[in-house]
Amino acid sequence: MQAVSIDPCTLPPHCEALRAEVRAFLVETLRDFPANLRVRNWSGGSPEFSAKLGARGWIGMTWPKRYGGHERSTLERYVVLEELLACGAPVGSHWVAERQSALLLMRMSPELLAPRIVPGIARGEIFFCIGMSEPDSGSDLASVRTRAVRTDAGWVINGRKVWTSGAHRTHYMIALVRTGTQGEVRQAGLSQFLVDMKTPGLTVRPILSQLGEHDFNEVTFDDVLVPHENLIGVEGEGWSQVSGELAFERSGPERYLSSSQLLLEMIDAAPTDDHRHAVALGRIAASYATLRQMSLGVSGMLARGENPAVAASLVKDQGALVEQAMPDIAHDLYGGLAPPGSTLADVMSYTTRAVPSFSLRGGTREILRGIIAKGLGLR
Ligand SMILES: Cc1cc2nc3c(=O)[nH]c(=O)nc-3n(C[C@H](O)[C@H](O)[C@H](O)COP(=O)(O)OP(=O)(O)OC[C@H]3O[C@@H](n4cnc5c(N)ncnc54)[C@H](O)[C@@H]3O)c2cc1C
Repeated sequence: MQAVSIDPCTLPPHCEALRAEVRAFLVETLRDFPANLRVRNWSGGSPEFSAKLGARGWIGMTWPKRYGGHERSTLERYVVLEELLACGAPVGSHWVAERQSALLLMRMSPELLAPRIVPGIARGEIFFCIGMSEPDSGSDLASVRTRAVRTDAGWVINGRKVWTSGAHRTHYMIALVRTGTQGEVRQAGLSQFLVDMKTPGLTVRPILSQLGEHDFNEVTFDDVLVPHENLIGVEGEGWSQVSGELAFERSGPERYLSSSQLLLEMIDAAPTDDHRHAVALGRIAASYATLRQMSLGVSGMLARGENPAVAASLVKDQGALVEQAMPDIAHDLYGGLAPPGSTLADVMSYTTRAVPSFSLRGGTREILRGIIAKGLGLR
């Protein structure tokens, strides 16, 4: 069996100075932002807040200046993300665009698409959604059936995507579609396209989540014509491009900090002299400390240009376990004690209904464990 090691990473002093700056900004900007919205964490968005972050230079921090970035370090970016997530800031509008879409465009279309689109992402004005999953292709992404056909006028796309988070409030989708045949290699013949969400023939319909909220969508493509230059990277290389993108999707601190509001509410409500509360909350804090070291280590790997796919899968898997256990701990400690309508009761209720999705989104638990097993040389 091979080992997966995540080297510890220490934040340099200037990162801690930046942390103080971000905290002061958040206290001021989110003064009136209530706990029942903070609990949505990176699922909740506000275009106004994204624009404010962009104006502070806190979106696209590590990107080249020619794309509107700020050429700061991965660790500085980590600190900003950590502070935003820990206080439940409404970062959802720009989250996907910053975390993965811009990186893909800069890597795969550095001269054509990136200069046109990425500066708007860095300003917090352009938002993206991910068009990967389809009705019969979630974990088994290689089987996507939405198809693009090359014509003189451009690529014509037909098919259907599901679970597309935020499609109704984003400007662009990066769609993974079939442009060739599967052949012997199942992953062959896939390509990625930049799709303007206003293109004729593209229809976005809501799918309500079990929270009763509209975040997911079904997106249908009926002869959607996209320009030739919107092919991202190389035709037929979509699979390897997507694999790189998924590593970014799985590597951030959001994979263990989605439920931090519940922990904060539990700490606020805890009696100071109760051993049971101290032990339970202490255990969560210890898990957070471990996950933070692992997540920070993944950030260090990114900073050194290493591939963090296996380590990132470990953080996401373990992060989801800790977050999914939190509502049970909350009900055990406070069930029946939090008055209906109180902030604690609201945050508990939301988190209880939200956490099952944490081991589905961004790759299910079983799929991540398959990646980890492969990384350990076990399959
Ligand atoms: C909150 C949320 C947001 C999402 N946002 C987006 C989005 O913006 N864009 C997008 O494209 N998708 C999105 N998704 C979809 C998500 O990526 C898929 O739900 C996920 O990949 C699983 O696919 P599926 O739902 O088709 O389930 P399936 O793939 O059908 O899996 C069903 C069950 O079978 C298990 N399973 C499947 N294959 C294997 C295997 N080989 N070995 C062992 N077990 C297996 C899975 O682990 C799972 O438990 C989102 C999902 C959620 C919950």
